[in-house]
Amino acid sequence: MLMMGPRHSCGVVGVTADYDVAPNIYLALMIIQHRGQESAGISAYNGSNTRTIKGDGLVENAIKAESLADLPGKAGIGHVRYGVVSSKGYANAEPMTVTTNFGELSLAHNGQLTNYSKLREKYMDEGWTFFTETDAELIIKILGKYLSIDKDPFKAVKGVMDELEGSYSVTFMINGRVFGFRDPQGFTPLILGSIEGGYILVSESTAIEALRGKIVRDVAPGEVCEITKAGYRFTPLITDRPCSHCVFEWVYFARPDSIIDGMNVYEARRNIGSVLARESPVDADLVMPIPDSGRAHAIGYAIQSGIPYEEGFMKNRFAGRTFIMPEQKQRESAVSMKMIPIRRTVEGKRIIIVDDSIVRGTTLKILVSMLRDAGAKEVHVRIGCPPVVAPCYYGVDMKTREQFIANVTDSIEEIRQIIGADTLAYISYEGLIEAVGFKETELCAACVSNKYPTRIDGEKYMYD
Ligand code: AMP
Repeated sequence: MLMMGPRHSCGVVGVTADYDVAPNIYLALMIIQHRGQESAGISAYNGSNTRTIKGDGLVENAIKAESLADLPGKAGIGHVRYGVVSSKGYANAEPMTVTTNFGELSLAHNGQLTNYSKLREKYMDEGWTFFTETDAELIIKILGKYLSIDKDPFKAVKGVMDELEGSYSVTFMINGRVFGFRDPQGFTPLILGSIEGGYILVSESTAIEALRGKIVRDVAPGEVCEITKAGYRFTPLITDRPCSHCVFEWVYFARPDSIIDGMNVYEARRNIGSVLARESPVDADLVMPIPDSGRAHAIGYAIQSGIPYEEGFMKNRFAGRTFIMPEQKQRESAVSMKMIPIRRTVEGKRIIIVDDSIVRGTTLKILVSMLRDAGAKEVHVRIGCPPVVAPCYYGVDMKTREQFIANVTDSIEEIRQIIGADTLAYISYEGLIEAVGFKETELCAACVSNKYPTRIDGEKYMYD
């Protein structure tokens, strides 16, 4: 099954300092590599113009470390892109750069616009042309329009926010000035940190720590932040919307060592595990994670239940991503190449395996049967996210209802049979909200609640 649509979750960076910033942007991109492996790029401003290096694949393949010397400049932005098969290629890679009559503008985007087609059509009717189908191109052109008119980046971002709907965290650079802004509902993360001799805006806080910097604070929903080598300036632009932080960042997407909107991802996952243990206990000999996505959840489950924690799967760290492979058969064989059970741990044991989420069910079906082949006596499955039932329109790669196992089955019992587990339990919706530590109205959990925090044609609006 091919995921439709060219827009995805990604990672963004912006840095200013009193020295060349490309090496720091490179390191930051490596830290947020999990947010996208399709392409990577860096743009730097050398005092008179912007140069960009970008390419397909992981950061280290897309940008040769030696070529960082070709990117001098004390201001820059970077991007890693989570793509699908249909949207490869240099033209789609970010940062993108255009020339406006206010100066050279580069931009990187994370998220997904929900009014992309409408806006694109509107501008095409006005005679605009596009060379990609990316949100980034649309955003950079609208931002460029307002910069050309207003010559004021803060005003220009307000103009952009008034037009865009959906999720977006953006870093951009105009004539060497670096900014970041976040959509008014704060779907995707963006955080400010201070580093030696400058500042950084980045999708996840771990990158700040990796650069031995200090977290200043999250960019608030609807806020823009300008960074210079000596300081920063926050300006709130839209403050009257409900908050809709993507719950899937804490469940699966973000690094466990990141802190997003004040909540550490590892802690949220451990809480999820302990809520699961409270809600769905079972007698067993050991608790095991599906590495790496279920590790913190499993630790939480083990501590709460008092059942010993063990590593029972070894992950081949060189295996690629299975989730976006287009064919089911490819996904299945890729899962079994990726994860091998440790027979000594599992043989003769009653095992609880904990994972973050079930989407299609491919992963668990194979892993449960591998555990049985390795001699497990019982396999109990516990899942740190309620059944995924609704597509994400805000950037997470879960796009059609028919791909979700929970929608093509009648009951959890049927899913249990398909994956071949002795028991299967998901965390409750209330349990998830409690574990993540926000109010329900501060989160977007549309993928599990089927209620969306923005108006989307044909879908139920959460606030009606
Ligand atoms: P599945 O085999 O389809 O049930 O995949 C579920 C597993 O894939 C989860 O345990 C996650 O670790 C991972 N996953 C969930 N959502 C995504 C996503 N949007 N992109 C990549 N991996 C995902």
